[in-house]
Amino acid sequence: MPTVAIVGRPNVGKSALFNRLAKRKIAIVHDQPGVTRDRISAPCLATAIPCTIIDTGGIGATLDDGFGAQVSLEADIAMETADLILFIVDAHEGLTPIDQDLAQRLRKAKPPVMLVANKVDEDKHIRGTDEFARLGFGTPVGVSAEHGRGMTGLTEKIDEILKPLVGEIEELVAQAEEAGIKLAIVGRPNAGKSSLVNAILQDQRTIVSDIAGTTRDAIDLPCEYAGEKFTLIDTAGLRPRSKRDTSVEVFSAMRTDRSVRRADLCILVIDLAAGITAQDRKIAQKILEEKKPCLIVLNKFDLYHPDAPMRARKEEAKEHVDRELFFLSYAPALTVSAKSGQAVETVLKEVLKVRKAAQNVPSTGKLNRMLHDAFQLNPPPTDKRSAKRLKLYYGTAAVDEKYRTIPVPTFVLFVNDKALMPASYESYLSNRLREFNPVPAVPVVFSVRSRD
Ligand code: GDP
Repeated sequence: MPTVAIVGRPNVGKSALFNRLAKRKIAIVHDQPGVTRDRISAPCLATAIPCTIIDTGGIGATLDDGFGAQVSLEADIAMETADLILFIVDAHEGLTPIDQDLAQRLRKAKPPVMLVANKVDEDKHIRGTDEFARLGFGTPVGVSAEHGRGMTGLTEKIDEILKPLVGEIEELVAQAEEAGIKLAIVGRPNAGKSSLVNAILQDQRTIVSDIAGTTRDAIDLPCEYAGEKFTLIDTAGLRPRSKRDTSVEVFSAMRTDRSVRRADLCILVIDLAAGITAQDRKIAQKILEEKKPCLIVLNKFDLYHPDAPMRARKEEAKEHVDRELFFLSYAPALTVSAKSGQAVETVLKEVLKVRKAAQNVPSTGKLNRMLHDAFQLNPPPTDKRSAKRLKLYYGTAAVDEKYRTIPVPTFVLFVNDKALMPASYESYLSNRLREFNPVPAVPVVFSVRSRD
């Protein structure tokens, strides 16, 4: 869903406009310190195209260095998170220096900026809006948020801008639905990748063919399971293997990298009977680097201490992974035998579970409530040298690509100074996020931005 951000200096009527667009009747009192949680974001109910509105004034960041600094932080947040920025000015007050500063900042914005003059309560005010054209964003759209004047004109313009964007997203969704979940089945030779793939493809009349546009090496295998579509990417083991000389090894590593990059989710197949080796860790490292969702499939479980009690075997297998692949701790491990029919069900059921959980990306409002609570419950430590403490202004979940079947959001945290964030605090926040929004197999990615 596209995001529309409202920015402007204090008192221009951002919250009134927010309430109009969200069709909220009661104005929410917002002069409490800290994050004004209810005013951050809401579904926009006034436009024809469904979108989310963000009122950057609702962030409630009161910076020591005055309104100018506060407004520029808000503009930065809007520029990073919005698909369209509504730049609000006050038709009563006319142009002010803060408006001009803000305009200068917004000129660098990637998303389009629409200038809106608020408090056009009577026709005579419209004439006064001409001076705003000097800001460089054209003549403003005149509205009165308080009285509801000009709202249709405004929402029609918003729809006009969002329309092509929504069309683009719809196309990506259609493409993604066609391919289903793209799975890269990776692992070192002999781990059991082909066995797993063959088990998945069993009983399927899938034609194994090169798909146009991919290189000669890469094979995409479309298939279905339990009525769901999947694409198995570049499963090297399906081709007759040539002699394993060094160049083949190098090419196979390159192929693995490419498969990992194209996948929605990686299935890292481990030969449990042989144990985890440096080569497995190298592939795991690549998956981590690419921030890809991952399931670890501990294969050949049937050969793993077959005479020991089941529970002890599972526990030992788990300990082995925790130790050898500790850096990939977000990836759950499943014990299977690719040779048995059970494996396919175990693995693909888990994949579907991951997709379901992942598609529920937390809203900005919910995320900020959670982060606010996490900061209150366990405040960040004070830096010994500067005697300063990390302050969070705002957090948002950004998904880099416009559409991904299994989205991996980057949690962007806007703070006073990122040098004040110790690694331990980041891992605390990461754990809170996992509790708040449990998505197995998907890494929690942070991006911490300092106010300049
Ligand atoms: P790939 O190189 O990763 O594609 O590995 P393959 O699928 O070709 O498997 C390598 C060997 O391990 C073959 O001989 C398989 O029959 C065997 N294998 C694969 N999975 C299992 C399993 O779960 N249990 C046992 N016992 N053998 C397996």
